[in-house]
Amino acid sequence: MSHGAALAPWACDPRSSRGRRLAEPADPGRTEHQRDRDRIVHSTAFRRLVYKTQVFINHEGDLFRTRLTHSLEVAQLGRSVARALSLNEDLVEAIALAHDLGHTPFGHAGQDALHACMAPHGGFEHNLQSLRVVDLLEQRYAAFDGLNLSFETREGILKHCSRSHAQALLAAEPEGPATRFLHGGQPSLEAQLVNVVDELAYSAHDVDDGVRAGLITLEQALQVPLLRAWHDAVRTEHPQLAAKRLLHEMLRRMLSAQVRDLISNTQAQLQAAAVADVSGVRAHAAALAAPSPVLREQTLQLKRFLFRELYRHPRVVDMTNRGRQVVAELFAAYLTAPAEMPPEFATAEDRPRAVADYVAGMTDRFAQREHQRLTGQRLFD
Ligand code: MG
Repeated sequence: MSHGAALAPWACDPRSSRGRRLAEPADPGRTEHQRDRDRIVHSTAFRRLVYKTQVFINHEGDLFRTRLTHSLEVAQLGRSVARALSLNEDLVEAIALAHDLGHTPFGHAGQDALHACMAPHGGFEHNLQSLRVVDLLEQRYAAFDGLNLSFETREGILKHCSRSHAQALLAAEPEGPATRFLHGGQPSLEAQLVNVVDELAYSAHDVDDGVRAGLITLEQALQVPLLRAWHDAVRTEHPQLAAKRLLHEMLRRMLSAQVRDLISNTQAQLQAAAVADVSGVRAHAAALAAPSPVLREQTLQLKRFLFRELYRHPRVVDMTNRGRQVVAELFAAYLTAPAEMPPEFATAEDRPRAVADYVAGMTDRFAQREHQRLTGQRLFD
């Protein structure tokens, strides 16, 4: 049972994992977190990520990121950072590959719609839903529901959680990963760094997809000082470079520099905080895996630009409005006619929650097809 290179003292060592909810014998060939990663890769929810939207509705084009390729990019960036910091790469990979499992079809629009539908029934949160997927909804094992993942992977998956949901989770599992949402504290460094590289990944790839989709122009993107700086650096070195390659080269360099910044700033913060181990990391007042203040500000500017020019672009808004309508109408349809769902959802005691689970698990195109079947309307061609 090897985890490769030596781990830093503040890393999550798989040999001292806080374990699984249902104890299982150790695997002779894999660490606990390698096992978690493998279980996630083989899950149904993971396969569905290929047909789920990040920003663009899945059928818009074959070249855009989906939640699957996004998750792979997050895993790649996360592993690079983890390796440089002697953290647990396998745990980072497991968290990264699972971090979006609970996302509804149609991206944030779908999640907002489902949250509104579920408002009288406890709401809907995608981070919590990711945990429900791995704890409960995957049905592949004879002995238990879900994937029975280790505490550390589940801690990383539950990135945010409202107080009321945290209370409910803690009632069922007093020492569980919801503790910090009531009593404060941080998750492991591995979980922290996945959060950071998630943002870095989508900020870079949304610029790329946005330009290639023709929703924003390169000139517009160059209003962002960070993008302008990398653009000018590449241009000076390669004045003849074609626009497409220029865009790739500047985003590639930007992302590499961001990763280096995250590594060095995290190293500095770890030194200053003088934490001895992972419990020191968890007890620390703030996250220790973080970009420098300069990079944080630059990333914020980039995100503001994306909000203004891409996520609120009329074409994106039009698609997301249709996605929102599909989710809301599907929810209403199944609530009144539960027999339209597979039996395991149709017969559930808490019907609104079962409907939310079922709809949240859908891919974009399955949701479109079901919506057309149940309402007779065709909202997407
Ligand atoms: Mg993400």
